[in-house]
Amino acid sequence: MTFATLGLIEPLLRSLETLGYQTPTPVQAQAIPAVLAGRDLMAAAQTGTGKTAGFALPLLQLLAMEGPKVTANSVRALILVPTRELAEQVHEAVRQYAENLPLRTYAVYGGVSINPQMMKLRSGVDLLVATPGRLLDLFRQNALKFNQLQTLVLDEADRMLDLGFSEELANIYRALPSRRQTLLFSATFSDDIRLLAGQMLNDPLTIEVSPRNVAANTVKQWIVTVDKKRKPELFVHLMRKGKWKQVLVFAKTRNGVDALVDKLQGLGINADGIHGDKPQATRQRALDRFKASEVQILVATDVAARGLDIEDLPLVVNFDLPIVAEDYIHRIGRTGRAGSTGEAISLVCADEVNLLSAIETLTRQTLKRQNEPDFEPEHRVPDTDASGQVVKKPKKPKKPKASGGGGGKRNLGRWVDSGEVAPAEPSIKPVRKVPVFNTGPRKRKP
Ligand code: AMP
Repeated sequence: MTFATLGLIEPLLRSLETLGYQTPTPVQAQAIPAVLAGRDLMAAAQTGTGKTAGFALPLLQLLAMEGPKVTANSVRALILVPTRELAEQVHEAVRQYAENLPLRTYAVYGGVSINPQMMKLRSGVDLLVATPGRLLDLFRQNALKFNQLQTLVLDEADRMLDLGFSEELANIYRALPSRRQTLLFSATFSDDIRLLAGQMLNDPLTIEVSPRNVAANTVKQWIVTVDKKRKPELFVHLMRKGKWKQVLVFAKTRNGVDALVDKLQGLGINADGIHGDKPQATRQRALDRFKASEVQILVATDVAARGLDIEDLPLVVNFDLPIVAEDYIHRIGRTGRAGSTGEAISLVCADEVNLLSAIETLTRQTLKRQNEPDFEPEHRVPDTDASGQVVKKPKKPKKPKASGGGGGKRNLGRWVDSGEVAPAEPSIKPVRKVPVFNTGPRKRKP
């Protein structure tokens, strides 16, 4: 199968040739013809599957081939994304695909001045990438009209709900024309997502290309157990021992990010951090410098790092385990991308045993434990396995016991077709219930 046989027009094929895309990925093979045929989509696909091109290519084709010329302050296609970084990243991909088409594309998000965005929107844009909050601000200030809108894409829909954007989504939804095509992409299909889909989609085609909740098998995963207070020390020790060159590190909180960056910088290590409290320009600069290998260690919260596409990242370290088990899959998905191999190491303390158990259940594997001499924890991390059971109650050990061993490892790599494996349901439910379209608590800046 080629992109030409999927029905894409020549200007897009030329862009793909420039980018070196030869074969459509499974999500592209299914989404492109469906979107061109005008169908609504409900697609379970995470970053790394090629989903951006899966919706952007046919969308650009429809914009180029059909519909009226865009008028002042109007937008013909809207892609909603949860974070500013993702808005930039998706827009950059769109810009490259649209290189040979006479279309205007743009991205708007918060954390930067609204005035240049209002100016830019005056002449109208064919395709707008936006975060929900800033989009509503622009709409309320009459900088944007939706009367010409023909397509809406909700990208990373589950993360938008996680971040408390359900009210914004409801308000946007009310402002949109009812006759439109809607494409919903989500890494997972929770009940909330299904509810959202029920409200927004019309007879959608369901696509599930990457079995949900299954971690990439190109990523070697292991954990080191350690006492909480010794995590920074262990991190530095492992870094020196492994001669780590480029590492993306996940910490749970903004303070956690800052504390680790301070500690590393204090030791003369080239580290930087990104989280929701930092100005957008600072976040983008840190990310760009990390991508350019000018920063060795980038420490991030989940929100700041969600969906980022960093080529050839060899290593991800979970300094803290994620509160929501599914985030583990997103985190380790930053490495081992597009078939390359990667490594994901988690530093786990006794407090995190339930989080560990939830991750193992979700990914259906017992993560291999590797003890680090001199760092064996005083507070032992109880044994866990992929059944979701904490095997033993914590007790003071005489000798730390190695366990695990990859029992039940049935994880699949990315870009695999649907139906190969039935997803596992976590027995420990992730703590993530934001009712759709209500005014639930906002967690915009972890
Ligand atoms: P995404 O899942 O959309 O974030 O895409 C992940 C990465 O795969 C991006 O770097 C894309 O440029 C790349 N990519 C997407 N589709 C293809 C393809 N058909 N062939 C090669 N690379 C691709």
